[in-house]
Amino acid sequence: MTRVLVVEDDPQLVRALVINMQARQYGVDPAPDGATALRLAAMRRPDVVVLDLGLPDMDGVDVIKALRGWTRVPILVLSARRASDEKVAALDAGADDYMTKPFSMDELPARLRAAVRRTEAVAPETVEVITEDFTIDLVAKTAMRAPGVYVRLTPTEWHLLEILVSNPGRLITQKQLLQEVWGASQSNKTNYLRVYMAQLRRKLESDPAHPRHLITEPGMGYRFER
Ligand code: CA
Repeated sequence: MTRVLVVEDDPQLVRALVINMQARQYGVDPAPDGATALRLAAMRRPDVVVLDLGLPDMDGVDVIKALRGWTRVPILVLSARRASDEKVAALDAGADDYMTKPFSMDELPARLRAAVRRTEAVAPETVEVITEDFTIDLVAKTAMRAPGVYVRLTPTEWHLLEILVSNPGRLITQKQLLQEVWGASQSNKTNYLRVYMAQLRRKLESDPAHPRHLITEPGMGYRFER
């Protein structure tokens, strides 16, 4: 059974979420505030966390940071906040996905399944990432366009690609990529990303102008799709 920790202080929404998820055979633990959420996360080891950002005792982003100190459990953020910098802050802190309230109860289970699937997909034994256009071997550190046709990548290109393909389907923010590849002091150099992503597409995508795998999320970041 998939266990979901629901962190939300609105009792009506909690009730709706619990009914909806139990009907789909999820085990649900509700937490009305951040402190309870952190305690339950350690005790119950949920498979996925659904987290409201506006909590009575602490900011949801701090809950994400506290969780990320010890667990990679998928976190799906629910928030009434529409501003894109709030989303980016939650994603930078380590959230996996984001739904803006009000949302459709039909959409939630699909998002939960996708979040759980993604953590399974990035299990450490994953070494080869195969798409129709290219194959990446994360252990041998090679990229091929076709069997035996290797693509030469610079260390910087490789570092970027490695982060993206290790997180299939997941939006990686510009800031996360810049900090990881170039260091915290360069985290505003979004032009670096544009240049290097264009190079990677030229080397790997069959139609670099219409990429199918190395996707730009305008103003937010990048995403690798198989
Ligand atoms: Ca709230």
